[in-house]
Amino acid sequence: MKYDYLIVGAGLFGTVFAQQAALKGKKSLIIDKRSHIAGNIYTKESEGINVHVYGAHIFHTSDKKVWDYVNHFAEFNRYTNSPLARYKDELYNLPFNMNTFHGLWGVVTPDEARAKIAEQTAEARARIKDPEHPANLEEQALLLAGRDIYEKLVKGYTEKQWGKRAYELPAFIIKRLPFRFTYDNNYFNDKYQGIPIGGYTQMVENMLKGGIAASLIEVKTEVDFFADRQNLCAMADKLVYTGAVDEFFDRRLGALEWRSLRFETETLDIPDFQGNAVVNYNEYEVPYTRIIEHKHFEYGTQDKTIITREYPAAWKEGDEPYYPINDDKNNALYAKYKELADKEQGVIFGGRLGCYKYYDMHQVIAEALRVAFENL
Ligand code: FAD
Ligand code: UDP
Repeated sequence: MKYDYLIVGAGLFGTVFAQQAALKGKKSLIIDKRSHIAGNIYTKESEGINVHVYGAHIFHTSDKKVWDYVNHFAEFNRYTNSPLARYKDELYNLPFNMNTFHGLWGVVTPDEARAKIAEQTAEARARIKDPEHPANLEEQALLLAGRDIYEKLVKGYTEKQWGKRAYELPAFIIKRLPFRFTYDNNYFNDKYQGIPIGGYTQMVENMLKGGIAASLIEVKTEVDFFADRQNLCAMADKLVYTGAVDEFFDRRLGALEWRSLRFETETLDIPDFQGNAVVNYNEYEVPYTRIIEHKHFEYGTQDKTIITREYPAAWKEGDEPYYPINDDKNNALYAKYKELADKEQGVIFGGRLGCYKYYDMHQVIAEALRVAFENL
């Protein structure tokens, strides 16, 4: 059978594109080398709890179009991400806000907190060679937040996460951390936030099977594009590729670097392990970066609980590439692959792996909707 699109990857990008193509009457075959759909947002039910198999996923966006789109396929609960940070036996609220500052220094008002941070960042400014242009993440963090926050809450977590010392990492990574002077533990600044009731897998299923999509989208799991590339390509007019971009070109210009993860999941015969969905472990000596307690994403009241320890890991060929490493060296290499990708006729590259970008879910959806609009 001839399809309009062969889509490599049943993650969010591939799914949204196929759903949009179906609305235009186009037929898609989606393949994925994994044994399931939904890519990294895959959730699996166990003990009545939706387990986030590839790490905690919290949906957040300020884009009304994207929010309306996902709400078409799932009802979202009111979950607001408010992780805790544990440093030795001390516990702090994230993101850095008045609760954190109160815990660290006993300050009560925003002015007191500002004064304390100003004192600490002034120390950093005096010591750093060019404070207007932080040379690395360590300098950026010290200039933004000062020594106490850097040493307790940033340094260990970041060095574990990226497998590099903070002074070897680019400054921009830490710009993702919101910083505020109100007593507000909401991790995100976005207008909309929540978790799809019933799990992300069900939401993706609804995209693939709702209405017209049911007859126009076919999905085959456990099919690796590279195991049968020519025959698979011959089955469709066009290709949407959401795997790793360098792999598509046989890594002929060299391998892009990724960061990987290892998840250790345990079912416990107690109703509650940590009282919160996400607890970060910020000291370097603890080998994992966080423990997720899945039931709290959905206010679960089951007798048992399921937790996952998340260990950052070095990546080598064959491992899951979870995070692109968007430093200068890798971005320059990606730019060369992008030139090759732009020259490919009839191929759309999309998603986190295909574009080598640290996209969140809402960004992947916005991208897929845009690409679909331009190409269909
Ligand atoms: P993927 O989900 O990676 O899908 C790509 C698919 O392609 C995979 O299923 C893969 O198996 C398949 N594939 C690759 N190569 C081949 C091949 N050769 N043949 C066949 N199939 C292939 N975003 C948020 O908005 N909020 C969060 O809280 C959040 N938390 C995250 C936590 C972690 C630990 C990680 C890793 C990511 C997180 N994200 C979060 C980001 C989110 O996971 C991504 O934005 C989204 O899943 C990307 O979708 P995608 O379709 O681009 O990629
Ligand atoms: N980070 C940190 N301490 C924390 C949480 C995060 O220093 O307790 C830093 C760390 O460098 C990390 C970055 O902030 O790589 C982004 O973390 P976030 O959790 O926002 O993003 P994610 O890793 O989920 O993409």
